[in-house]
Amino acid sequence: AKRAGRGQYACFDPSLREQVAERIGMESALRHAIHHDELQLYYQPIVSAATGRIESVEALLRWHHPERGLIMPDAFIPLAEETGLIVPLGRWVIEHACRQAALWQRITGSAGPALQVSINLSARQIAQPRLVDEVRAILQSMPGDDTRLHFGFEVTETAMMHDPQVSAETLSQLRRLGAHLSLDDFGTGYSSMAYLKHLPFDTLKIDRTFTRGVAEDGCDRSIIRSMLALADGLGLDVIAEGVETRAQQQALLALGVQRMQGFLFARPQSAAVIERMLDDSLKA
Ligand code: C2E
Ligand code: CA
Ligand code: CA
Ligand code: CA
Repeated sequence: AKRAGRGQYACFDPSLREQVAERIGMESALRHAIHHDELQLYYQPIVSAATGRIESVEALLRWHHPERGLIMPDAFIPLAEETGLIVPLGRWVIEHACRQAALWQRITGSAGPALQVSINLSARQIAQPRLVDEVRAILQSMPGDDTRLHFGFEVTETAMMHDPQVSAETLSQLRRLGAHLSLDDFGTGYSSMAYLKHLPFDTLKIDRTFTRGVAEDGCDRSIIRSMLALADGLGLDVIAEGVETRAQQQALLALGVQRMQGFLFARPQSAAVIERMLDDSLKA
């Protein structure tokens, strides 16, 4: 928009005007979606690469738009983030993921260690001190609060950049509530190893840009090797993301990576499909 004088703005670019209209439409549609059952969480298994056992799942948001069909998170999370809609949206995600975790915990129950559900948090959510109270309230509203809920959060370095101090404090409090903490997309942000030691992470998730070349690219292998040394030194677990081929799996295993996530093992699935996979792996 260009200033046209006397506080008036003129839009000269019709495509820009379309973009603005599109954004506003999208924003109100998303606001509507939260309250009208258009959102769904998919879950992608994280497996022990040696045994194939499902150890945890990552909750990934999907939007079933009444006209446009399925919309993937990359197409609406950034807008939700900019507009602040991520706060109610994120609350919806945390609530539903925790409820699902509690249900699955009852199914696996005595049959083995509980399945952990990991939830993505964006910058705006972590920068919001009320997040901790919201999570506490959600946990208190869970049925069967005698058993500790197995859940976790995933945060990127970039998301913490905005306010490292507040982020660190929020993360520590979430951990005290029993949340497992993962550093997501590791290696893609402004990697600041220095503050890593001050943050209460349990797990490093190696980004799929490094997994991609691990079977044929010596550089990727070197980078992963140094990430593993770092994780080891700091006492962190490691998950390799985006594992798509047997060759990648083998190369990662040879480097000593135990836990993997990717299309090779399973795509993100509805809760019902995950449940069937769990049943099968319990019977196996
Ligand atoms: P992310 O946290 O890095 O999640 C992993 C993404 O990689 C998912 O995309 C997943 O489907 C995809 N993926 C998994 N395995 C493979 C593989 O083998 N190959 C390839 N090419 N991709 C794989 P998805 O579901 O489209 O989510 C994209 C991003 O949207 C997520 O990246 C996360 O940053 C964000 N997101 C998703 N759900 C939520 C949510 O509930 N809250 C927030 N704040 N962000 C979310
Ligand atoms: Ca993630
Ligand atoms: Ca990731
Ligand atoms: Ca990502």
